[in-house]
Amino acid sequence: MQKYKNIGFKLTPQRLAILSYLEGNTEHPSAEDIYKAVSAQFPTMSFATVYNTLDTLRDRGYIIELNIDPAKKRFDPNIKSHHHLICTSCKMIKDVHGEFNLNLPQLMKDDFRITGNHIEFYGVCPVCLKRK
Ligand SMILES: [Zn+2]
Ligand SMILES: [Zn+2]
Repeated sequence: MQKYKNIGFKLTPQRLAILSYLEGNTEHPSAEDIYKAVSAQFPTMSFATVYNTLDTLRDRGYIIELNIDPAKKRFDPNIKSHHHLICTSCKMIKDVHGEFNLNLPQLMKDDFRITGNHIEFYGVCPVCLKRK
């Protein structure tokens, strides 16, 4: 939690619970998932508190908002460059670590200086494959 020392907002017990739920979480939870998990500990906490905290964390670069799932935003506390495997059946999102050497042809770069990329691999996860 040391890395949040200069976060710039008051670390209330509720916000700390949200942060510790996200710490090292690789499930890419939605705001609803986070609310469900943390409100077990803080029954009086509102959904707005979760939502606003996530917004602030995203704006300050502590988490990444993923727009992979059209039904709901998902959040990723892993801000290091990585890619994702997405199950089109259960919407599970898994991290893919590794570098892919993607060279964008000069003509397609549009004079951009490329600094990174994010690849979304779509498919069906082993659990869903078994279910079929
Ligand atoms: Zn699946
Ligand atoms: Zn991720």
